[in-house]
Amino acid sequence: MSITEQALVRWARRNFQQLGLRARAALCQLPLVASVLAAPLAMPAEWTRAGERPLFLAGLLLLVAATAACFAIPWDSLPPNALLAVPIQDFVAIGLLNQGSVDGLRGLGALSIIPVIWIAASMPSTRTALALSLAGPVFIALPAMIEALVGFRSTGLGDALLLPPLLLTVAVAVRAARAGLTIQERQLRAQQARLQKLLVESQSTERLLTTLLDAVNVGIVAVGPDARPIRSNRRFRELAAESGWSMPGVEGNASAGLDLYARDRRTPLTPEQLPLCRAAAGERINDEIVWLGRGSDSRALSVVARPVEGPEGGAVISFGDVTALAGAVEDKAELVRTVAHEFRSPLTAVLGNLDLVLESASLAPEDRWRLDVAQRSAERLIELAADLAVSSPDTLAVRLEAAELCAVLTARADAARLSAAAAGVQLDADLQEPLWVRADPLRVGQAVDNLLSNAIKYSPDGGTVQLRAAQRDGWVTVEVSDRGMGIAAGEQGRVFERFFRTAEARRSEIPGVGLGLALTQWIAERHGGRLEVESEPGRGSVFTLLLPVHGPGLA
Ligand code: ADP
Repeated sequence: MSITEQALVRWARRNFQQLGLRARAALCQLPLVASVLAAPLAMPAEWTRAGERPLFLAGLLLLVAATAACFAIPWDSLPPNALLAVPIQDFVAIGLLNQGSVDGLRGLGALSIIPVIWIAASMPSTRTALALSLAGPVFIALPAMIEALVGFRSTGLGDALLLPPLLLTVAVAVRAARAGLTIQERQLRAQQARLQKLLVESQSTERLLTTLLDAVNVGIVAVGPDARPIRSNRRFRELAAESGWSMPGVEGNASAGLDLYARDRRTPLTPEQLPLCRAAAGERINDEIVWLGRGSDSRALSVVARPVEGPEGGAVISFGDVTALAGAVEDKAELVRTVAHEFRSPLTAVLGNLDLVLESASLAPEDRWRLDVAQRSAERLIELAADLAVSSPDTLAVRLEAAELCAVLTARADAARLSAAAAGVQLDADLQEPLWVRADPLRVGQAVDNLLSNAIKYSPDGGTVQLRAAQRDGWVTVEVSDRGMGIAAGEQGRVFERFFRTAEARRSEIPGVGLGLALTQWIAERHGGRLEVESEPGRGSVFTLLLPVHGPGLA
C-alpha cells in the first residue's frame, strides 16, 4: 500500500471511528440495501414475478427489519458484539432472497460479501470472524448444493461451491489488512507519544535556557549567516533599547541603527567592522572593546564572538558592559600621565645641574664616575617618564618625513653592541640598502632600540641576536631575532599590552616595566605599519617591524 493510500485509509478509519455506532451500522448496511434495490433495474422482467415467492418476500422483510434495527436500536448502550446481529441477519436475508428468487436473480448470494467484510473488519476475535465469514456463505449456498445433490442437477453447483471459500479468502484478506493497519496505528501512536515527550522536554529546556540567558548580566545575541539577529537575551535587548538601537535584521539590514564606535570612542565602526557582521563571517572575537553611543551616556562593551559549528552557520556574540572598568583604566592612565609629567621638571633640573658639575675640570675621577652613573640614571628616568606619558598611539608625537633607514639602523645596532657585549651576546646586522620609508627616524630608532634591548635582555644565557632589514612586497621589514627564553603561545598576544610582562620574565627577575613593546607597536601604527611576533619558549623570538615603502620619488 502506498503512503497516500495508507494515509487515506487512516483518515477514513479515524473519521469512521468518530461516528456513533448507529451511524456506523447504517453506513455498513446501506451498500447491501442499495445493491438489493439495484437488482430490479438490472432485471426488471424477473423482478415483477418476485412478489409471488414467499421466501423472497421474507428475505426482503428481514432486510428491511435489519436496516430499521440499525437506525432504531441504541447500539452504544448494548455490548459491543451486539451489533454483529445485523450482518448475521443479513446472511439470513440474503439466503432467503437467493433461495426465493427466480433463476435470473440467483446471483444475489454474492451480496454476502458485504456482511462478510463487515464482520471481518469489526469483529474483535479473528477466529469468530473467520468462522462467521465461512458459516454465512455456507448457509446461503447450502440449499443450492442440496438441490444439486438431491435432484442430481449440476446447475448452480459450481457457484454454490465457490462462494464459501471465495468469501473466506476475502475475510482473511480483510483481517490481514486490519491487522497491518492496527500495527501501523500502534507504531504511529508510540511515535506520537515519543514526539510529544520530546516536545515537552524541548519546551522545558527552552524555558530553562531562556531563564539562564536572561539571568546573566551580559548581552547575548545569536545571528544567522546574514548577520541578522535570530535570538537575544533580556540584557542585549535592554542595551539595544537604551541606545536607541532598533533590533537590526527586522528591517533587513544588519547594521541599521547601530551606533558603535572604535576604542578611541570617536571613530564610528563601518558595517564590515561591526561585531555582528564579523562574527557572522566566521571571525572569532576575543574581548575586544567597542563603544556603544557617544557622549556621557556611552558604554564600553567587551565583545566576544564565536561561530556556530554546523551547516546552519551564524554566530553567538556577547556584549559585557565594562564601562566602569574602562573608566577606571582611563583614570589610571591619566594619573600615570600626570605623575610622569610632574617628574620631568625636577629630573630636567637634576640633569642640567649634573651637566654643569661634570663640566668642571677639578672633579676627582671617582666623583666623575659617580656623577656619570647618576646622569645615566636620571636620563633613563626621563626616558621612562616620557614613555609613561604616552597613553595611546594618538598621544605619540611623530614627525613623518622621507627617510632612508640604513643609517638609523646601523647607528642603533652599534649602540646596542656595547650592552650586547656586556651580556655575552653577539649582535649581527644584515641590512639591505636602500630602505626608503616615510618615517620619524627618531621614533623608528626608539622602536629598534626597544626590540634590540629586549632581544639582549631576554637572552640570559648569551647567544646571538640578529638585526635584519630588507624591502619586499611594498614593505620595509626590520626583523630582530634572538635565541633567548621565548614567549609562551598563550602570552604572545598580550606582550603588546601596556605593563604586561610574561611569567618567565617575572620569574627570571629581569628588570622591566612592560611599556617598550606597547610603545613600539604604537610607533609602527603611527607609520601605517605593524609589529609582529613569532616565538617558541626556550628557542627564541622574532619581532618584525613592518613599515610601508615610501621612496623619495613618491614622498
Ligand atoms: P619590558 O621588557 O620592559 O618588560 P616590553 O614591553 O619591552 O617590556 O616587553 C613586554 C614583555 O614581553 C616583557 O616583559 C617580556 O616578558 C616579553 N618579551 C619582550 N621581548 C622579548 C624577547 N625578545 N624574548 C622573550 N620575551 C620578550
